[in-house]
Amino acid sequence: MKILISNDDGFRSEGIGLLREVLATLADVTVVAPDRNRSGASNSLTLDVPLRVFEAEPGVYSVPGTPTDCVHLAISGLFDYEYDMVVSGVNDGENLGDDVLYSGTVAAAVEGRFLGLPTIAVSLCTGPESGRHFDSGARVAGLLVSQLLRKPLESALILNVNVPDVPFEELRGFRTSRLGFRHRSEPVIRAHDPRGRPVYWVGPAGPEQDAGPGTDFHTVTQGYVSVTPLQIDLTRHAALPAVESWLEGIDG
Ligand code: MN
Repeated sequence: MKILISNDDGFRSEGIGLLREVLATLADVTVVAPDRNRSGASNSLTLDVPLRVFEAEPGVYSVPGTPTDCVHLAISGLFDYEYDMVVSGVNDGENLGDDVLYSGTVAAAVEGRFLGLPTIAVSLCTGPESGRHFDSGARVAGLLVSQLLRKPLESALILNVNVPDVPFEELRGFRTSRLGFRHRSEPVIRAHDPRGRPVYWVGPAGPEQDAGPGTDFHTVTQGYVSVTPLQIDLTRHAALPAVESWLEGIDG
């Protein structure tokens, strides 16, 4: 079995290194990841300049591009063989609720959705006070991949996994959950450059709004690994009739 590993924190990050170590015990692994931190890149592709690929060491490639660039390249012609699945992470920071829309970690997994096995995005819920237990995230990924080999799930499934930032032995187990929702983001932060011109920092994500039992927020707060199956269909099917009748007579 061949597993492609990517992330959005860059090929040198601690999380991807440990993920590679763990998954190498289960499969042939290759890392193709951004050359630097591209967190927040979502599903963007680089279309205005060509992409170059650098081999950092055998089996580890860096790309001056986005997470989606990396996975797209790797499964669409960079190699002369097919991968069975993509595992993305271990991200430095949670990807809960609306975070999924912006996440490059999740985007890398999404780009691999047409391969033979479900894809997995793994994020560690790091915070200012937490222990940065990336090995916990990597071991969780290893358990999920092993489980997939024993008990296959439908392909084209994307599993968004969030791991509490605690030692592996302190994790309470695995729970499925739905995405919660956050409040509106904090305002942008205005500052000035040395010439007095205004610059703006995108502010932090909003606090959780819908975070009760059953949500991913609640699950990780309770100390469990949260596993949310994602789909790509953004169509709001229930609204189709209302919008259809709303459109009636629009052209006079
Ligand atoms: Mn990241």
